[in-house]
Amino acid sequence: MAAEILKISNVAKAFGAHKVLKDVCFSVGKGEIVGLLGPNGSGKSTLLSVISGFLPADAGSVSFEGREMLGRPAHKVAQEGLMRTFQLPSMPHRMTPRELIAAGARSRLGLKGVLGRAALHGAEVEAVIRRFALDPVADIPASALSGGQKKLLSIAVALQGKPRLLCLDEPTAGVHPNLRARMVDILKEVAASGVTILIVEHDMHFVRGLCDRCVVLDAGAIIADCLPEALTENEQVVEAYLGKAKVGIAA
Ligand code: ADP
Ligand code: MG
Repeated sequence: MAAEILKISNVAKAFGAHKVLKDVCFSVGKGEIVGLLGPNGSGKSTLLSVISGFLPADAGSVSFEGREMLGRPAHKVAQEGLMRTFQLPSMPHRMTPRELIAAGARSRLGLKGVLGRAALHGAEVEAVIRRFALDPVADIPASALSGGQKKLLSIAVALQGKPRLLCLDEPTAGVHPNLRARMVDILKEVAASGVTILIVEHDMHFVRGLCDRCVVLDAGAIIADCLPEALTENEQVVEAYLGKAKVGIAA
């Protein structure tokens, strides 16, 4: 593994008596694309929320580029360069995708960007809209987009903040199959530009095509940390998927 960008150590989280994350430990190397897998309810989204400051942990450490992230609010974690998208992104009623993408770029430019709209490059915004296939919906309220378009838009907006680690929660769920291939290409380009990616994903074809390594959660505990090709040979992983959810991991 390349030099660590993210090190998760002994993270625990309970909701009341329900222990949702149990002593979770794994690392992500700089430039890696790591898949975070596991059956429904295994704690994947909760883990992303803990990493990104949206939920407090009960114990453990989340070290990003050597700095502790636990205890920081989400906006501070994002400012550090660690951003996440949501499984079910909510979008504002009053802003369009074009405005949201431009606003994402403005926040990166800081005060200079907020004060001087001229600092924004319209052509840059156009290129992002085209890249994420949002042309037909660029000027309608973002809340009116389809689920898949909202996923694409939330990735596009997150990227404008120039994260060094991007955590994605089921980005392809609800995305049209034609656009999934484009999503793989986009994420590979993003990774090639130096952004490390931690991605929650169920689609095994997608995982094999994209991820360098996979970490598997089951009932809040890590049961595997392996190459994507090794997943189907791991008995615990196959049992976790086939035994409970009846989801074919080889699909
Ligand atoms: P996954 O993303 O792997 O499907 P989640 O992290 O969403 O799983 O949820 C893991 C478990 O934690 C589930 O049993 C879920 O019901 C529970 N859970 C998630 N969020 C909360 C919450 N805010 N309050 C209580 N229980 C929660
Ligand atoms: Mg989830």
